[in-house]
Amino acid sequence: MHSFFRINPKLRGETTPLDERVRSALVATLFGSPASLIIGAVCGMLTAIYIAVNSGSIAIAKAATVLSIVAIMRVWTTLIFSRQIRNGWGAKFTHWERLYEIGAWTYSFTLGVLCGTTILYTQDASLHTLAAANAIGYAGGISSRNAGRPMIAIGQFLLVTIPLTVSLMMIGSVTYMILAVTVTMFIIAMIGITQQTYEVVRRSFSMAQEKSDLADRMEIIALTDDLTGFTNRYGLNAHIESVFSQRGDRPVALLWMDIDRFKEVNDSLGHPVGDQLLIRISDKIRAVLGDKGAAARFGGDEFIVICPDMGIEEAEILSNRLLEVVRMPTHIDGHVINVSGSIGIAVAPYHGVEPDIVMRNADIALYGSKAAGRDQSSLFDASMNRALIRRKELEVELRAAIETDQLELHYQPIVEVATRKIVAFEALIRWDHPTRGPLRPSEFIAIAEETGLIITLGNWVVGEACRAASAWPEDISVAVNISPVQMQAAGASLGVMTALRASSLAAHRLELEITETALLESNVQVRDFVAAIDAVGIKMALDDFGTGYSSLSYLHQYNFSKIKVDSSFVSGALAGKKSDAIIKAVAELAATLDMNIVAEGIETEEQAASVLGVGCGQGQGYLYGAAMPAEQVLALLTAQGRLDQAA
Ligand code: C2E
Ligand code: MG
Ligand code: MG
Repeated sequence: MHSFFRINPKLRGETTPLDERVRSALVATLFGSPASLIIGAVCGMLTAIYIAVNSGSIAIAKAATVLSIVAIMRVWTTLIFSRQIRNGWGAKFTHWERLYEIGAWTYSFTLGVLCGTTILYTQDASLHTLAAANAIGYAGGISSRNAGRPMIAIGQFLLVTIPLTVSLMMIGSVTYMILAVTVTMFIIAMIGITQQTYEVVRRSFSMAQEKSDLADRMEIIALTDDLTGFTNRYGLNAHIESVFSQRGDRPVALLWMDIDRFKEVNDSLGHPVGDQLLIRISDKIRAVLGDKGAAARFGGDEFIVICPDMGIEEAEILSNRLLEVVRMPTHIDGHVINVSGSIGIAVAPYHGVEPDIVMRNADIALYGSKAAGRDQSSLFDASMNRALIRRKELEVELRAAIETDQLELHYQPIVEVATRKIVAFEALIRWDHPTRGPLRPSEFIAIAEETGLIITLGNWVVGEACRAASAWPEDISVAVNISPVQMQAAGASLGVMTALRASSLAAHRLELEITETALLESNVQVRDFVAAIDAVGIKMALDDFGTGYSSLSYLHQYNFSKIKVDSSFVSGALAGKKSDAIIKAVAELAATLDMNIVAEGIETEEQAASVLGVGCGQGQGYLYGAAMPAEQVLALLTAQGRLDQAA
């Protein structure tokens, strides 16, 4: 668990010494073929007992007994080891090597002594042959069998052959002397061969080990986020599966955290600072988490924390602690960065038992935190489900809709009330959803604003609207709604300028409709945006006037060319004498400030007459036409004789 969110030592290049692991593998070869050891032991015991019985020597009988005991013990330890190796032996392999060494040397020495005493204390040449052949054969077998640990093999050669050679030399006959010399030469050759075999075996083990190390490293790299050292999305999946498979009836808490307004840091201070911030945040998460659980970076600025054995209460405490540390100012390159986080919590088994359900519920809870104003955590609650799932689905679908051109702009005429002459069209977005049918902006603009999609969307809208308007007569403008969120995005004015340039539309024919809420959040970005568009001659209209604070101070602060009186004063619930008086006052003010005033939502002739009566020059509403597709606009203008048939 711990290593999961710690940087893996192998990544830092701190590998376990290779030789140590190779050695452990080589020691395993000592125990690798119990069959050869058993054959050796059985043959050795039979020969020893045969010689002891036929020689009648007490000394030989004693040597044969010791040899048999050692042989039995070695077979026994080898069998135990085979079981041990299946359970993994960790660092204990050196004990086993030592044990093997003691057994092997004791056996060799006993065999050597048995051989020597047979030669010295019996006269029977056939027993001499049997003993010598046994010892030499044993030495030969050892050379390859124990080549993995050459020092053990060499020790064995010497221990078995020195008593043999000494006894042969003590007899002193020419034949025995020749045999003694032969055995000595043989041993020298065998030592060479053992060392050579050892080198070959060791090298191939080393290579195999290096290869498997490399494979391990590649796997770790593939599953690790290189910026934070946390596991990445792929590693996370595997980890969640494994935590859930071991859950039993204990709870598992899943915390899904998103860094609020991280994009703004990236946009305003640059990606390197954004990256640094993510590293700092991941350090904070690591510190708070300790060994309670593991964390993963799920994508840009999202982190997922999984805590096995953690219930709801503890998860809420942990999440508050995480929010606290994220909220603390971070100093990077001389900047003091203040961010906050939003967290969604789901705990198995209360909020699902399958990993993907718990993940989805944590995500929904996160969405709840964001919708409730960010910088907070929310525990999943079944009631969040329906509304939030629909929003969540819409978010995903909207993203796809932008990419697959499912969105369309319709245009609603704005006319001179007195003459019904079209002076402009307002671009209104429409989404013909493949399964839900046509959707109104009120159903998805807010989602686009919450998710930041509005920036892409808004740029598309202004581009599309300018392109359409460039086909209209010179005296017809296009009005485009600009969301407050879009105005605050870095480079917002650039999107508008690009659209204008691409369509070759004159700047004064583009009018941006801004609501009061946008100006309420008035900050440097909003002021810069307004200044930039004002500078090139793009017009601005104050939209939905009367629904917000209706503060007249904006009219002084910003250079509006138009005020749009909200439809609620014209055709809505507020319409009546009182609202007429309000419209009148606003119209008078507009006239003195040289602004146009537009009444929205005109549905009947009476309403038209009424707004005209109180000084409203322009109007928009179903009476003059609902929003229509671009082709229909062209047809309408052609029918009115304002556009050539050919155009
Ligand atoms: P809005 O800018 O005030 O647009 C006028 C809304 O009034 C439109 O609703 C229009 O269809 C509706 N309307 C027009 N004539 C009448 C009428 O006679 N009676 C009534 N009751 N309503 C009328 P829609 O298209 O549903 O748009 C709603 C709001 O969504 C817009 O209000 C605007 O704030 C926003 N919106 C629309 N398109 C965009 C867009 O491309 N970008 C952004 N940021 N916002 C948009
Ligand atoms: Mg509007
Ligand atoms: Mg409006």
